[in-house]
Amino acid sequence: MCQRLVRTPLGRARGAPVTSPAVALLVQKFGGTSVGDPERIRTVADYVSRCVRRGDRVVLVVSAMGKETEELLRLAGDVSTTRPGREMDMLITAGERKAIALVCMALADAGLDAESYTGSQAGFITDTRHTDAKILEVRPDRIRAALEAGRVPVVAGAQGVSTENDVTFLGRGGSDTTAVALAKALGADACELYTDVSGVFTTDPRVVPEAKKMAKVSFDELLEMTSTGCPKPAMRSVEYAHRHGVTLHIRSAFTWEPGTWVTEEEPMEHAVVSAITHDVSEAKVTVAGVPDHPGVAARIFRALADEGVVVDTIVQNTSEAGVTDISFTVPHADLAVALATVDCLQEELGAVRVSGDPDIARVSVIGSGMRTNPGVAATMFETLAEAGINIDMISTSVIRTSCVVRQDQAERAVQVLHAAFELGAPY
Ligand code: ADP
Ligand code: ASP
Ligand code: MG
Repeated sequence: MCQRLVRTPLGRARGAPVTSPAVALLVQKFGGTSVGDPERIRTVADYVSRCVRRGDRVVLVVSAMGKETEELLRLAGDVSTTRPGREMDMLITAGERKAIALVCMALADAGLDAESYTGSQAGFITDTRHTDAKILEVRPDRIRAALEAGRVPVVAGAQGVSTENDVTFLGRGGSDTTAVALAKALGADACELYTDVSGVFTTDPRVVPEAKKMAKVSFDELLEMTSTGCPKPAMRSVEYAHRHGVTLHIRSAFTWEPGTWVTEEEPMEHAVVSAITHDVSEAKVTVAGVPDHPGVAARIFRALADEGVVVDTIVQNTSEAGVTDISFTVPHADLAVALATVDCLQEELGAVRVSGDPDIARVSVIGSGMRTNPGVAATMFETLAEAGINIDMISTSVIRTSCVVRQDQAERAVQVLHAAFELGAPY
């Protein structure tokens, strides 16, 4: 891995060493915190200029500055209760549009010829689902032309143009997907996701300060992590990268040190457990006292699916005297719809009670070594029991065991599990 300090036009070595391997074409995505203020934008521009002078060709993808997306969402809420999707997308995408122009100005000051592109200009064609549009196609002709002309294209993240010619937003965290899709469309050597931590950690470093950066993580593990609460990278971008064979490198825009590489294969000498995640974004619904006969579950979950509610963990108790309870989890945002839907069925099903519980959390233990090592679930349950944490629901995949616990015990659960599986220990 090369490591060198490149001199700026002023002749003085600035900033941290550029430590990524010299490759021909890189897509570099900078998250909100990484371009959060003018100083950060200038620091990013300085780093990019050193990458370019080293010989790399780079395309940037930029998020809205700092908490700008939240601020725009708040403004919309203050002004309107209807918040039409088309106008929401016009509003939210303005955050990224502002950021790309500012980044280009800083790049110009660093001596680079840079050009900003909205999602539409960069060739992102999406479906018409406002606020959560899906990419249908990327036609990066202008980006290619800019690269060939020796310019640095700077693309607004998380946006595109719909098949009906309207501006669309790809949803929260969509800039990661923009970067991955662009890397695929351009045939880039790597997609680098720069953020405010130095990579993917064994657990959320805000909850466990001893959490360790993972030098490598497999796609399978990262997909499990991002679907159970790890916010970085956005899950859709990991799926896209996996499906299209894009090389992903998650790394720091603060220390610039090498971060986490996402690999197709399982790392050799793999620990049984690689990471612990937690997710507080779900709520629980319980349908108590339903007759235990064929068709009850089918009726409930068909009705929920028809309302577009995505159901996660489902638990049905053993029936007593022909009566059982069914519990399941749904995203918080869908709790009201889920409760209303099941309430409507209560009489038809003969259920005694329908209730909702928003104060739950899912804690998950993830590791591809679980495929061949029995006992991980047992250790997880013992560890939680010793900490006096009650398990409400359990679900598993081949490389994951998840427990639903009380929300106020989630962080403690993560801490004891991280310690029990020795994830903070030196390699
Ligand atoms: P960005 O704004 O750069 O796109 P996010 O703010 O969405 O990035 O996500 C980065 C944050 O994710 C980090 O600040 C970190 O605290 C948090 N995080 C939670 N779990 C993990 C984990 N396992 N590994 C790395 N970061 C994590
Ligand atoms: N700015 C948007 C968000 O905060 C998109 C992104 O950064 O990925 O969700
Ligand atoms: Mg962030």
